[in-house]
Amino acid sequence: MLDRDALIGNIETVRARLAAAAAKAGRRADAVALMAVSKTQPADAIAALIAAGQRLFGENRVQEAAQKWPPLRARHSDLKLHLIGPLQSNKARQAVQLFDCIESVDRPKLVTALARIAEEEDRQIDLFIQVNTGEEPQKAGVAAPALASLIEMARAQPRLHLRGLMCIPPADDHPGPHFALLAKLAARHGLAELSMGMSQDYERAAMLGATHVRVGSQLFGPRPA
Ligand SMILES: *Cc1c(COP(=O)(O)O)cnc(C)c1O
Repeated sequence: MLDRDALIGNIETVRARLAAAAAKAGRRADAVALMAVSKTQPADAIAALIAAGQRLFGENRVQEAAQKWPPLRARHSDLKLHLIGPLQSNKARQAVQLFDCIESVDRPKLVTALARIAEEEDRQIDLFIQVNTGEEPQKAGVAAPALASLIEMARAQPRLHLRGLMCIPPADDHPGPHFALLAKLAARHGLAELSMGMSQDYERAAMLGATHVRVGSQLFGPRPA
């Protein structure tokens, strides 16, 4: 793990670059939330960013989050944790218990499971729908033509609060057209929030309307293999 000073230097750099990108597009710096993606990172590195004021984090695996986050949450009641990796229905209950927001919702069966579990757990849960903008067969996310009915379904569930759309563009494509497509789909459906942009392209995402950028390695350094 990077030392404390390096972590703090990184988050200050990313915050400054994010604010500059937002300003270039005529957006306020606080219109774009920086999510620190802490998958594979040790609790000490996460604690250093919490000490630097970071409150919003993302994890991609339910199991890993279950091990790392309860002790951190016990010390800081104002943390927000988003699930950004694929969710299997048999882990949905644990996800509802652990996360404030699930960004990887991509199929009717999962919406039904989350709605039932949120009711049983007496909770409200925030959601983003993940869109497979690159139509990649191996990638999670709903195909654009099936988006409207999934949105309608999620909106009909009183325990679910659909906030916006999320995407992960194909690794070897220019991300800009994917970000623009996600923004267009969200606007068409009256959704205000867009989770898009990672370490390599968060500035572009901020210029194209992201409300959440998900940054891992630019903050924590390269992930262990
Ligand atoms: C790992 C991950 C990120 C962060 O990736 P970096 O390139 O390290 O910034 C963002 N979003 C998702 C869904 C991820 O799985």
